[in-house]
Parts: sequence; C-alpha cells; structure tokens
Amino acid sequence: MKCPACGQEAVAKNACPRCRTDLSLLFYIESLPDRLAEEGNALLDEGRPLEGIEKLQVASALGPADRGLCSRLATELARAGLDEWALLQFQRLEEFGDLAPAERRIARLARRRRFVRAFVGRVLGVFGLFKIPDGGRVAP
Ligand SMILES: [Zn+2]
Repeated sequence: MKCPACGQEAVAKNACPRCRTDLSLLFYIESLPDRLAEEGNALLDEGRPLEGIEKLQVASALGPADRGLCSRLATELARAGLDEWALLQFQRLEEFGDLAPAERRIARLARRRRFVRAFVGRVLGVFGLFKIPDGGRVAP
C-alpha cells in the first residue's frame, strides 16, 4: 500500500516506516472484501444461505471483480429461488467469458422459473384470481 500521508511506496505494516502514520484502518478496509467472502462462504457451507448470500453480495460490491465469488453468488441466489438476482449475477459472470456447463444449466433453470412465475402471475391476474402489485411484470 502507498502511504497517503507521505507517498511512501509498498508499506506493508500498520504504521508507515517513514512518517509513522497509522494505516491500520486502511489495511482493515482493504482486507474487508476477502474476509466477508470467506465468512459468506463459511455460512453457505454451514447451510445458512441468506446470511451467506448477504455477505457475498457486500464482498462483491466492495471488492475487485472476482469470477469465483460471482459464480458462487449466482449459484446460491438461484438455489435460494432469488432468480432475478441470480440472473443479474450470471450476466456479470459472462463478462469473465463463457459460463461453465453447470453455470449455464443453473442460469437456464432460473430463467425458466422466472418465466413460469411471470406467466402464472399474468394468468391468475387475467382471471382476477390473484393480484400481485406489479401486475406480474418482472424486472428487466
Ligand atoms: Zn508515510
């Protein structure tokens, strides 16, 4: 890290060796995405999907683009039935290149479920059986 106070390059300790500025908070912030991703993955492995997804989403928003993180997030969102969010993640994932076969399969499943949900919502709406606030439309 570069010391923001004096410009010293490659500072690797909590205090700058040249000007002694305390950089511990900056190191903490810099490490946050990785630590959140680690915690999120651990929660998912423990079978706590919503808490895990929440951590991965924050890690993904704060950190640099990471294919592995994006893939896990997309997969877990689809597994939790949060298909709109999953499909957005799969779009982001495609920016890294082609999806793996398993990823393509999960994305296809999420698209189908989204379609069925929208279709059923419209049919029920037509017959006045069920009203959903947005009229069955789905976000783009
Ligand atoms: Zn310094």
